[in-house]
Amino acid sequence: MTRVRNPATGEVVDLVPETTVAQADAAIGRAAAASESWRAVDPADRARLLRRFAAVVDAHLEELAQVEVRTAGHTVGNARWEAGNVRDVLDYYAGAPQRLTGRQIPVAGGLDVTFHEPLGVVGVIVPWNFPMPVAAWGFAPALAAGNTVVCKPAELTPLTALRLAELGREAGLPQDVFTVLPGRGDVVGERFVTHPAVRKICFTGSTEVGTRIMAGAAAGVKRLTLELGGKSANVIFADADLEKAAATAPYAVFDNAGQDCCARSRILVQRSVYDRFLELLEPAVRALRVEDPARESAEMGPLISAGQRDRVAGYVDGARIAFTGSRPDGPGFWYAPTVLLADSPADRHWREEIFGPVVSVLPFDDEAEAIRLANGTEYGLSGSIWTRDVGRALRVARAVEAGNLSVNSHSSVRYWTPFGGMKRSGLGRELGPDALHAFTDVKNVFVATDD
Ligand code: NAD
Repeated sequence: MTRVRNPATGEVVDLVPETTVAQADAAIGRAAAASESWRAVDPADRARLLRRFAAVVDAHLEELAQVEVRTAGHTVGNARWEAGNVRDVLDYYAGAPQRLTGRQIPVAGGLDVTFHEPLGVVGVIVPWNFPMPVAAWGFAPALAAGNTVVCKPAELTPLTALRLAELGREAGLPQDVFTVLPGRGDVVGERFVTHPAVRKICFTGSTEVGTRIMAGAAAGVKRLTLELGGKSANVIFADADLEKAAATAPYAVFDNAGQDCCARSRILVQRSVYDRFLELLEPAVRALRVEDPARESAEMGPLISAGQRDRVAGYVDGARIAFTGSRPDGPGFWYAPTVLLADSPADRHWREEIFGPVVSVLPFDDEAEAIRLANGTEYGLSGSIWTRDVGRALRVARAVEAGNLSVNSHSSVRYWTPFGGMKRSGLGRELGPDALHAFTDVKNVFVATDD
C-alpha cells in the first residue's frame, strides 16, 4: 500500500494498493489484446469518444482539481488549469484520428502509399509534479493514434490518474484501452520497459531514471519520448522592461513551489542593471502569497514531501542568501521562496536542478557571455529572454540550446505547440501537431498495377 499524504498538512489522505509485476503483466496482456479492436475503430468514432472523454473531464474539473490540491499541494488556481489542460489536450487530439493521413508517393508501375500505423501498447510513466497534464500529454495522442495505454502515475500522486481512467470508461472508452496501474517505479515502470508487448515508453521524470529507461528500452528497440530535468535561464538584458521582468521572475520559478521542469531557476542579469533588478525583485518575492493551496488567493503551496523539502534545504545551506519570501508555520512540507547569489557558475545551486522554490542570480557583461552562461548546463528545456532589441532577442533565442524559449514573457507550454528538451533534458517532442507521429510507425505499401 502506498500512503498518499496531503503535503500542506502531512496527513495521510488515502492508501492505494501497489500493482505487482504479475498484475502489471496481466494488464499489459489485456491492453495488447484490446489494441486489436481499438486500432480498427472508425476514426470518426475514435474522435467522438475522445471528445466525449474531454467533456466528462470538464464535468468533473472541480473534483479533479480538489484532489490535486489535497494530494499534490497545488494551488487551487493551478489545479483547475491542470484539469482544464487534460480536457483541452483530449479535445485537441480528438481532431487527430481523421487527420492522420499518409502520403501517396509517385513511383513507376504502381501505387505507393504510406500509413501511420499505431504501435500497439504505449506505457506512460508520470512524475508527481504535474500528475494530470503529463499523463494526458502521453495518453491523449497515444489513444488518438490508435494505441492502447498503460499508465503508471508517481507513487506520491496516483489519485487523479486513477480517476481519469474511470472517467474515460464513463465516456465510453472500451475496457482495457486506457489502464492506470499505480505502483513503484522500479516494479511497474520497469516492467513497462522490459515487457515485449509495450512498444513505446513515454517517460517524464528525472534525467537519472530517464537515462536508465533509455538503456533498458534499447534491448527491445522501443520507441521513446523522454521529458527530463531542467535548469533554465531567465536572461535579462539592461534594455529590458526591468519592472516587468522583476515582477514576473518569481512566478517563472516559484510556480508549483519550483517543482517544475521549466522553472527559470537561473537568473542572469546584465551587470549594469544587476543592483536595480535585485531591488525590484525583493518586494516581488516577499509579496508572493505562500499559503494553504486550497485558498483562492494562494500563489504557492508546499513541497510534495518532507524528503523533497530536506533536499531543497541542502542546496541553501552555506549558500549566499539575498532574501527570502514567507511560508506558513505549522505542519506540512513548506519552504519559503529563496533567492541565492551565485559566486560563479561552478556553484552547486547554479548547476544542479533543485526542484524547489530556490533561484540563483548571476551577473553577466555582454551578449556572448550571457549565451555562454545560459548554455553552461547539461540541460536544455526552456528559458526566457528579456530585451527590447528584436535582433538581439532572435539572436539569443537561436543561440540558447533549449527546446522552449519565450521572449519578454515566461510562457512555455501550450497544448497546440511542441514541447520538449534538448541535451539531457529529453528526447522527442510532446504536444502540438507533430506529437501524434511519435505514437505511430510509418508503413510504406507498394501496389503493382502491371497486368
Ligand atoms: P522520477 O524520475 O523519480 O520518477 C518519475 C516516474 O518514474 C515515477 O512514476 C517513478 O515511479 C518512475 N520510476 C522511477 N524509477 C523507475 C524505473 N527504474 N523504471 C521505470 N520507472 C521508474 O522523477 P520525479 O522525482 O517523480 O519527478 C521529478 C523530475 O521530473 C524532475 O527532474 C523534473 O525536472 C522532471 N520533469 C520533467 C518534465 C519535462 O517535461 N521535461 C516535466 C515534469 C517533471
